[in-house]
Amino acid sequence: MSRFLNERFRTIEEYTPGEQPQNMHEFVKLNTNESPFPPSPGVIAAVNGAEAEKLRLYCDPDCKVLISKMAKLYGVGQENIFLSNGSDDILNFIFMIFCDDGVVYPEISYGFYKVYAELHGVKDIKVPLKKDFSLDPADYCGAGKTVVIANPNAPTGRAIGLDEIEKILKSNPDNLVVIDEAYVDFGGESAVKLTKKYENLLVVQTFSKSRSMAGARLGFAVGAAPIIADLTKIKYSTNPYNINRLTQAAACAAIDEDEYYRANAKLIMENREYTSTELQKLGFEVIPSKANFIFAKSDKIDGEELYQLLKEKKILIRHFTIPAISQYNRITIGTRDQMDIFLEAVKEILKRRI
Ligand code: PMP
Repeated sequence: MSRFLNERFRTIEEYTPGEQPQNMHEFVKLNTNESPFPPSPGVIAAVNGAEAEKLRLYCDPDCKVLISKMAKLYGVGQENIFLSNGSDDILNFIFMIFCDDGVVYPEISYGFYKVYAELHGVKDIKVPLKKDFSLDPADYCGAGKTVVIANPNAPTGRAIGLDEIEKILKSNPDNLVVIDEAYVDFGGESAVKLTKKYENLLVVQTFSKSRSMAGARLGFAVGAAPIIADLTKIKYSTNPYNINRLTQAAACAAIDEDEYYRANAKLIMENREYTSTELQKLGFEVIPSKANFIFAKSDKIDGEELYQLLKEKKILIRHFTIPAISQYNRITIGTRDQMDIFLEAVKEILKRRI
């Protein structure tokens, strides 16, 4: 740390991203919830094509073409969509500008919420989940502060229904309710349609998971026009060109091939059910998931040890050291072949221990 760093940033505990090893191709990589499938052919063509030649020019800061395509796809107005550099960027803005009264979110959830709260000096209340990691909507009713809920939640994979989200929205008319839907395309129910009914709702999604574009960095939010205008004001006060030319072109192509991504999401869901069943046969407890990952533990092996032994076999999964969940591991769902390699390795590790 340099002596120049402002006092208030000195104690921040930064977010630790999942490992991205240099020798990535040697690993079966099931640790950061990326898609195992490449982007659609149109995306590859868009990035390799004429757009690359235009890189000397700034990109469109309003992302007009992309926003109009997205508005059509999601059935909302263009004034209801905000785009930014990954949904992390949007969550950062939310904690920066909508949390004067504080924020409430589940104690076990996306680790970045805590970091953003600290970064922006926001008072945060972390609400415990039930023992089975399910969320009680009553805990967020009449919160009196901004509510942030990942649905499906991470790293548990559990989802709540729109009826439960509506209860939270109705009981917080004067506070913003943010639903982080990074994983919604894998079987969850999206709250986007509720944005027409509730002007205190903001839904955040990403192209990183179901759309195989984690490396392109594109997130979006859907909500009432005044909220979108606020976010846009902050984007234009920080970095108006925060969605680069190639990403805009790639995302337009991805939307044109939406069917490809929906088919991939379906495969992931099938592989998730297969992997869950196989792990349960091996004695694992698997939390029911609506995401592209599962959260599982075994009484036969410590979570950290399983993570380490799999890593030795060049299989990466995600382990969290937080005591309440340190017995568990989060396993991203890949192709059927990848999941078979993972399951074989788990079997072998457990057999060696008998
Ligand atoms: N929300 C949740 C719940 C996540 O797990 C992630 C991925 N780490 C994000 C948001 C951020 O995704 P991205 O910035 O890639 O859009």
